[in-house]
Amino acid sequence: MIEIRTTDITKLDQILNLSDIYNLKIGLGSESCVYKLPTLDQIRKIANTIEHLSVITPITPQKHYEEMLKFIKALPSSIRLVVNDMGILYSLHNSNSTNNFYQIAAGRGIVHTSEACPWVEHLLRDESDIIKEAFLKTNLNYTRTFDLITGLGISAIETDMESNTVKAAVALGLPTAAHLEFIAVAYARSCHTSRFYNEKPPDCTSRCNTLIKLQLADMFDLSGTPPGFAQPDQKMKEIFPTLYLLGNIIFMKSKCREFQGLERIIVNADMYEPEKLPQIIETLTKKSKQSQY
Ligand SMILES: [Zn+2]
Repeated sequence: MIEIRTTDITKLDQILNLSDIYNLKIGLGSESCVYKLPTLDQIRKIANTIEHLSVITPITPQKHYEEMLKFIKALPSSIRLVVNDMGILYSLHNSNSTNNFYQIAAGRGIVHTSEACPWVEHLLRDESDIIKEAFLKTNLNYTRTFDLITGLGISAIETDMESNTVKAAVALGLPTAAHLEFIAVAYARSCHTSRFYNEKPPDCTSRCNTLIKLQLADMFDLSGTPPGFAQPDQKMKEIFPTLYLLGNIIFMKSKCREFQGLERIIVNADMYEPEKLPQIIETLTKKSKQSQY
């Protein structure tokens, strides 16, 4: 199945419309920003009409922690809750709140993969096959971490769509979702977008609905005299991918379309221009039917 997801409630009508046409699941919320969540009232209203609406809750800084926990505990029980913060997950478990939802999935804030590093090929270039194999898995492909996470109430996982990562995640045996096309490379504690525009969160929230393209322009060169910024050479430019900034997450594009064994494919609507979205969903629907994932 395909889930279409947004942090931007103004896109809801378009998403509901696409969901009707293509029979999509719907996700609302943010992996990384407490200011990008819909209100409880909005969620309650939508959850009444959508089966197992996914509500994505963010990596949570300490000062927002109590508020976030209160928010999650007030969510309707029919939802599929996506948790991206270990502290939040731990507190939900400690307060016996993990059975209050249809399902709790570990998001990318909890499920990490080294394959999503932009220069992973260069890191592993001289390593043996056994090291490569161990490196290109998720952090949950380790029995102790897996037991810990499932013991805390996790019954589904989400990860980046990279070939080895998807295989390793699926092998864990939990329903696995993978994010189409955009891999989360880094989360920032303070919002890059707000810093770029010299604003303080939450003033940036409306800007954080649109992608900003990042290209390598300067790099810090310690070998220069004196050390300072230098221009990257051609080889460096080839290694360094184009990156995409949305709010406080930096993304990289992945060409991988490995659907085998996946329970769902997640399309982040905020990554695309609204008028291009129907075409993307149409193509993906056809491709996913062919591969019968
Ligand atoms: Zn922001």
